[in-house]
Amino acid sequence: MNTSSQPYMRTLAGMRPTNILHIGNYFGSLEGMLELQAMPNVDCYFMVADLHAITTPYNKGELEEYSRDMVALYIAAGLDPKKSTLFIQSHIPAHTELAFLLSSMVSIARLMHLPTYKEKIKQHPDANSLALLSYPALMAADIILYKTTHVPVGLDQEPHLEITRELIRKLDTELGVKLPEPVRFSTKSSYIPSLTLDGKMSKSVPNSYIAISDSFDQIHKKIRAVPTATESGGEMSPGVKLLFDLLSLVSTEEARRYKKDFEEGSLQYSQLKDALADSLYVFLEPIQKKYGALKQDPVYVSTIIDQGTQKASAEAETQLTLIKKAMGF
Ligand code: AMP
Repeated sequence: MNTSSQPYMRTLAGMRPTNILHIGNYFGSLEGMLELQAMPNVDCYFMVADLHAITTPYNKGELEEYSRDMVALYIAAGLDPKKSTLFIQSHIPAHTELAFLLSSMVSIARLMHLPTYKEKIKQHPDANSLALLSYPALMAADIILYKTTHVPVGLDQEPHLEITRELIRKLDTELGVKLPEPVRFSTKSSYIPSLTLDGKMSKSVPNSYIAISDSFDQIHKKIRAVPTATESGGEMSPGVKLLFDLLSLVSTEEARRYKKDFEEGSLQYSQLKDALADSLYVFLEPIQKKYGALKQDPVYVSTIIDQGTQKASAEAETQLTLIKKAMGF
């Protein structure tokens, strides 16, 4: 309960369960979840977006395992089940039900113009499904069910948030249902480019990402492959900029030091790359260790999921009932 003078804040976010979570997901979203969790007066709901996972090709044999692993990874990264409600989206049927109801309030044309939809059908031309098209209605349902005010997601999700706000305005003007209009909660870096410099870092593009689970050697190999100009000095190339941006996320001090070398024309890119790879590994290693330990304790992870589901379910059902009633059911 909000007992101070600070405004009420409620947050919800989720990642799709794949066995790969990369540093783009971490710095674009998970870091925001951690920041929100650390603030007073923020009610935190963090889910594994397994329903969203089926909007592109997936492996049914891995879905459940990856969903549980994602909860373990959330905890390993610092989400605290005592402070945040952690759950798996599909365990709460209200998400699918409200998504269907909301899909009656948004046009197909509006959804077809969204950049992520266009990008996804380019990546998976044989999987242009209705579920993929209506992904934003599901995301709106997720947000609305918890009366969310702040959504810690990457920049790529902003157009989906706009759809959510449009739906919330319609719920108000057409049905008299009052909800807060959610805003994106930005992290320091809402957009991490691909290591190949072609678009964003993405789990569906091999060689574009550093996975949270990558070993010291893998990180070094991938960072070494980032294209940079051969000579030091002059204008900063996109590859060098990426190296600096990443370094400043994990070691501000080193980033400052190497930036000085760059400005003085004495920077060796191989040194910058080694420093970045080392720092990334130092940053990721504790998460990897904690994740490894949690994987050995599936009972604990299941208990957290059950408790989270119970709490989230009560909240979601109340909100769903209210909207259904307003819609005439
Ligand atoms: P996904 O499960 O891939 O849809 O992404 C989960 C979260 O990570 C979403 O909030 C995305 O906006 C965020 N995200 C994914 N890729 C990036 C990226 N390259 N840079 C910043 N945020 C990202």
